[in-house]
Amino acid sequence: MSDTESLQSRAAALDAADELGKLREQFVLDDGVYLDGNSLGALPRAVPGRLADVVEREWGQRRICSWDEAGWWTAPERTGDLIAPLVGAAAGQIVVGDSTSVNVFKAVVGAVRLAGDGRDEILVDESTFPTDGYIAESAARMTGCTLRPLAPADIPGAAGPRTAAVLVNHVDYRTGRLHDLPGITAAVRAAGALVVWDLCHSAGALPVGLDEHGVDLAIGCTYKYLNGGPGSPAYLYVAARHQGAFDSPLPGWNSHAEPFGMRPGFEPADGAARGRVGTPDILSMLALEAALGVWGGVSLAAVREKSLALTDFFLECVRHHVPDGHVESVTPAAHAERGSQVALRCADAATVMDALIARGVVGDYRAPDILRFGFTPLYVGFADAERAARVLGEVIRG
Ligand SMILES: *Cc1c(COP(=O)(O)O)cnc(C)c1O
Repeated sequence: MSDTESLQSRAAALDAADELGKLREQFVLDDGVYLDGNSLGALPRAVPGRLADVVEREWGQRRICSWDEAGWWTAPERTGDLIAPLVGAAAGQIVVGDSTSVNVFKAVVGAVRLAGDGRDEILVDESTFPTDGYIAESAARMTGCTLRPLAPADIPGAAGPRTAAVLVNHVDYRTGRLHDLPGITAAVRAAGALVVWDLCHSAGALPVGLDEHGVDLAIGCTYKYLNGGPGSPAYLYVAARHQGAFDSPLPGWNSHAEPFGMRPGFEPADGAARGRVGTPDILSMLALEAALGVWGGVSLAAVREKSLALTDFFLECVRHHVPDGHVESVTPAAHAERGSQVALRCADAATVMDALIARGVVGDYRAPDILRFGFTPLYVGFADAERAARVLGEVIRG
């Protein structure tokens, strides 16, 4: 048996033994290899029928009655409670709505306000996804704080008596590096500051443990590993201990204690609803709610175990199939520092990715020279990983 055949037979054995393998049937996929679920998750089969029912019956026939009758009004908190177990949060702390960017703003300004007077510094992960950095900069200007970009590993030593809030990406969107959520959270809290975690690249890919690790606030999108669909609404977690004092910078009529009282003065709602702003985007929200159905009975420990096995196997296949010197992994080798994607530095990354996509292997690239391959454990298998590495080798050999 050749080395390639032995990798392929190992892949087949790993797929046969995979307890999550049967979940792939719950998604609409083709015979290509989809490794971009870290950018846009695949479509769960339950969604089109549910959306058709929402549009044709709930909206088309029941019109305004559906706000109460079909539970539209309470969908933001109800959907938040479906996300809660996936990020290790007890019910009642997550609300769904608005974009990730908007929720970064609510969370960072809210954290500075919770930190109280005398603290005038915001720390931000220097490698952050751009939108988080732009919004943190604006939030700092608005709240009279200084913004200090830092490597996440330096945050524990840097958080001090001046620090109000710290914003960190749990998994780096370019390199796939997983940051130390328990350690950074403990250090920030010990300094008397609040931490905001961005879970865009971790929720749905690995256990997060928000409550267990004492996280203050968190935000994340739902269209990556949570498969909510293009532009599906994001979420905001405010730990129960902060809810009573959480002072949202975007108080809207939906976060009022009595929205239909139509009163001139703002009085905040209790609980997660305080994070709402305006009328929820019902079509996207209910598509997300249906998409979250795939998680029933899924063990996050099994998801994590498979994710690490897949990324390890992919890296091994890349070493075998891709001639030396053409790609270099920038994803940490250590499991404790790895999310669910592999990022390979490669010259001509944009051209190489176009060629991969033309051959049925879909990943993406981030400027200037990073090929990204996202491994969604719910629907990617080991044979997919071997095939992606083999096609990458063929493209690079030309
Ligand atoms: C995907 C992603 C976003 C996206 O923000 P939107 O407002 O949903 O466009 C923000 N932050 C991080 C870390 C992301 O990975």
